[in-house]
Amino acid sequence: MNYRHSYHAGNHADVFKHAILLRMAHLLQRKEAPFCYLDSHAGTAMYDLQGEAAGKTGEYLDGIARLWEREDLPEMLRDYCQVVARHNPDGDLRHYPGSPQLIADALRLQDRMILSELHPEDAATLSAHFAGAPEVAVHMRDGYELAKAFLPVAEKRALWLLDPPFEKTDDLARCLKAMQIGIQRMRQTIIALWYPIKDERLLRDFYRQVAGADLPKVLRIELNVRPADNTMGLNGSGLLLVNPPWPLWEELEVVLPWLADVLAQSGPGGFRMDWLVGEP
Ligand code: SAM
Repeated sequence: MNYRHSYHAGNHADVFKHAILLRMAHLLQRKEAPFCYLDSHAGTAMYDLQGEAAGKTGEYLDGIARLWEREDLPEMLRDYCQVVARHNPDGDLRHYPGSPQLIADALRLQDRMILSELHPEDAATLSAHFAGAPEVAVHMRDGYELAKAFLPVAEKRALWLLDPPFEKTDDLARCLKAMQIGIQRMRQTIIALWYPIKDERLLRDFYRQVAGADLPKVLRIELNVRPADNTMGLNGSGLLLVNPPWPLWEELEVVLPWLADVLAQSGPGGFRMDWLVGEP
């Protein structure tokens, strides 16, 4: 396990993923009924953007830093930036909340969350961070097993972020299998699978497999910050949303072009949004 999220925290992919994840939690909270948030590959809760790891890559400079002082943020991004701002009360961008913290900040008394992280150091940091928070359960276990272990949840409403590091060649296949198990165990589970856009050929096969799997509605959203033929690094990233809450589509029609413009790194950025399964 070489991947450490501290090198990438707050980059364009985090901005894209976290803003949409937070919005989905808020949409779930339009109802008083409780929900359970599952984060199968949680990372740590907080990242230091002025620390050594973030300083080595500087990725956040082309991510959250580009939004930080903008006054024309669409509503979804304003909400997300407000959470980041709460962790940086002096206005200097330094502390960046990972997905567990972002959602922890949004939880109501009736909600709870289950996190898993396999890297021993990051799992210990995460456990210590949430020690004394009874609504948060931290497990050092394989995130791909989370659905089997915890779904269905008593609340009958769940939002699951599936966000592996994609270090292994079979990660896409493992994600699909995990999503199928999750949906078999609780069909209404809302799943957000994040994936990197690097190898278009691999992804085309994956989309075909997802479309042929027995999943309910699947919305595909992608944000590219570099041309697709760039062979170095991450050109963009995607989210497959199973059972996305309404009216996310309408909101993303505003947010995606804005992000593609503001986060573009060389040449124009791009985006797409369409249904892989269900919804006309
Ligand atoms: N979800 C985090 C966020 O958005 O802030 C970022 C997570 S990072 C992309 C992926 C994390 O998964 C890393 O912290 C890595 O140590 C962890 N990881 C790798 N393999 C895992 C596994 N099989 N089960 C659980 N965690 C794993």
